[in-house]
Amino acid sequence: MSKAARSNRFTSSLPKNAIVMAKKKSPGINTQSVPQPEQSLDEPLATPNQLKLLSQTVAQCRACELCANRKNAVFGEGSSRARIFFIGEAPGETEDELGQPFVGPAGQLLDKMIEAIGLKREDVYITNVVKCRPSENRDPKPLEIQTCSEYLNQQLKLINPELIVALGSVAAQTLLKSEEKISLLRGKLSSYQGVKLLPTFHPAYLLKSPSSKKQAWEDFKQVASLLNLALPKKVQS
Ligand code: SF4
Repeated sequence: MSKAARSNRFTSSLPKNAIVMAKKKSPGINTQSVPQPEQSLDEPLATPNQLKLLSQTVAQCRACELCANRKNAVFGEGSSRARIFFIGEAPGETEDELGQPFVGPAGQLLDKMIEAIGLKREDVYITNVVKCRPSENRDPKPLEIQTCSEYLNQQLKLINPELIVALGSVAAQTLLKSEEKISLLRGKLSSYQGVKLLPTFHPAYLLKSPSSKKQAWEDFKQVASLLNLALPKKVQS
């Protein structure tokens, strides 16, 4: 399917109305809708300026309670023409400090996994389901995920990747609307809004459970196969 056709499907899938927010209002939190960028994000697709425009909107977003304790919203980063779109759960402490996704130890492991399939971090796009850090690294709540999903869908629309890799249970369950454990979801190819979707373990989990790295590597080899990437000779096995 052409990029243009997939783009149209993203456009039609975006919410027509602003997402209705929590009925209970909090001071400083806009409980009506996520803000819309001042300029249209419609055609043409994926320019760095369009992503920058959306990131500026996210930086000022106060549509859910997660805005209250953030130091920085973490929009996401990478190539505006990325073939692979990685989605994690939420920013952690280091990400919140720096305003960048996956920059702590888990991010360093993700970088190594990306390099193992012959790519660099700047070749892909990396973001999270929610853009602001939940306090004490708790899981984001369903309403927070729902509210922030409009930004995620806008990013997908702009970048129009060939493959989404959901990192960990929160991302996989959110996109698949499933309550299955990541151990059951991982490695199974499906789709999200017309784009191929492959869940795998979150790198933070792999740091705690190194024995699962073998399965994660199988998933990354599937990523390489799906995109016809030639594995570097030193990792072909
Ligand atoms: S998590 Fe998303 S919806 Fe909530 S305040 Fe941050 S950017 Fe806005």
